[in-house]
Order: sequence, then C-alpha cells, then structure tokens
Amino acid sequence: MEVANSPRIKVLLLTGQSNQWHNWKVSSRALASVVEDESIFELDTIVSPSAGEDFSEFSPNWGDYDVILLDYEGDEWAEDVKSAFVDYVRGGGGVVAFHAADNAFPNWVEFNEMIGVGGWGDRDESVGSMVRWRDGEMVLDDASAGAMHPDAFEFQVETRAPKHPVMKGLPASWLHAIDEQYSCLRGPAKNLTVLATAIAGPEIENGTGEHEPMLMAIDFGEGRVFHTTLGHVGADDTETPLAMKCAGFIETLYRGLEWAATGSVTRDVPADFPSSEKTSVR
Ligand SMILES: [Zn+2]
Repeated sequence: MEVANSPRIKVLLLTGQSNQWHNWKVSSRALASVVEDESIFELDTIVSPSAGEDFSEFSPNWGDYDVILLDYEGDEWAEDVKSAFVDYVRGGGGVVAFHAADNAFPNWVEFNEMIGVGGWGDRDESVGSMVRWRDGEMVLDDASAGAMHPDAFEFQVETRAPKHPVMKGLPASWLHAIDEQYSCLRGPAKNLTVLATAIAGPEIENGTGEHEPMLMAIDFGEGRVFHTTLGHVGADDTETPLAMKCAGFIETLYRGLEWAATGSVTRDVPADFPSSEKTSVR
C-alpha cells in the first residue's frame, strides 16, 4: 500500500553489457533483488541492446526517475542520449555508479566528471589524477599509473566522511566480504568527497600501499552521484558473490541511492552491519 506523504524513490537500473571480466546478468539480478527488498524504492530495469547491436531505439526517459543505478559498461550511447543524461544529472537527477560502471565511457568528458574517477579503457594522466587519502585528507596524485586490483580478498573499509548522510552512524571501519579492491582510478575528481577508503599493503601483489577511494560522493551541477567501487561479479559467476551479499555493501548502496535521489538519508544502521573484526553477509 502506498503511504501518503512518502512517495517512493523511483530507481532505474540500467544494465545489459559488461566487459569480459564481469557478468551483468548476475550483478543486475542481485542489485534488483536488493533494491526491491526496500519499500522506499520503486524499481524499473532497462536492459540495453547487446554489444554491437542497434542502439537506435535505446533512449531511456531519464527524467522519469529519481536516481539511475548504472550497472553498465559497454557500447557508447547515441549523442542525444548522452546529452539528455547530462542534462538530467545537471538539473538535479541522481546517479549511482556500481563497480565496473566506472570502467565505462573513458572518453566521455561529462561522464568522467560525474563518476569523479574511473578505471581502465586506457584512462591515463590525460583524464586526470588519482585520488588518495593521506594524513587525514584527500590528495590528488598525478603519478603515472593505471587502474588495477589485487586478487579478491577481505579488506577493511574505513569511513572518511563520518558526517556525510551516507556514512552517518556507520563504524569507523568494517571488514568487507571478499571482493576486488580497485586502485589507481583516475579522473577529474572535481566536487568529490571521499566517503570511505581501503588499502592493500605492498606485501600483497598489486597492492599500492595507498588508501584508495572505495565510496565517493560527487556533485555534478544540481545532481548528486554516489560511486561505489565495491561488488565484483566475475564473468563465470552464476550466483550472487559474497561481495554483493555483504551487509556493508548493501547498506551503503541503499544510502547512496537515497542520498543521490533526495540529498538525505533516513536509514538507521542495521544490526547486522559488519564490524572491523567480522564480515557480515545476507
Ligand atoms: Zn570487477
């Protein structure tokens, strides 16, 4: 039953393509089920044409939604679809970029601004800096490096913006279930708030020893973007992986969706939120 005075948040899950390392069918199914579990959200899903197929009919009505949840990395959209998306976000629309969505559209200037930083797709110094957390503050690092990650492992996610609506009340650090930890993402990093970081020490292969941004909030015009790097689903995975069952992943996704859609978060911290000692999966 619809509750008066509390309209549901309209979420569009956009999926349909991923690169060779990911399985959008499994990740989008998991995202849909998570979103549908919470009655404040009302979900629509659009599955794009497959790689190389005709995109001429692909033209989502962005303005019908409060927030667009991107689980998409693939073919470029038509220019008018892109510009309508930019107008939507600039005018106050919400976006949540999920995991490898930040691999998408390496040459789309406004998209890189929306996500703050991204990885792969030949992103190099020309797209911007890396974002690191050093001595209690965000630092832009212009060193030459490309995105990478260690083999999936359990890692601490450390809160860096405890007063931000997405992070309010969450523990200072929590142990995330086994996942890829993205590093060396780079981009314009404008109007970007680092919400949470994680580190892989140099003793780990492909560990940078840097506090890398895991959760980010970006202002783009009047719009808000929540960027979560968490939630890897491998190409051969057929079941929802632990990374996406982690109560920390799920709760920060809920908060990111609500914040991107409305600018505030109404949620309490769930009892099963992970601690720094123990992962928690649903
Ligand atoms: Zn991945």
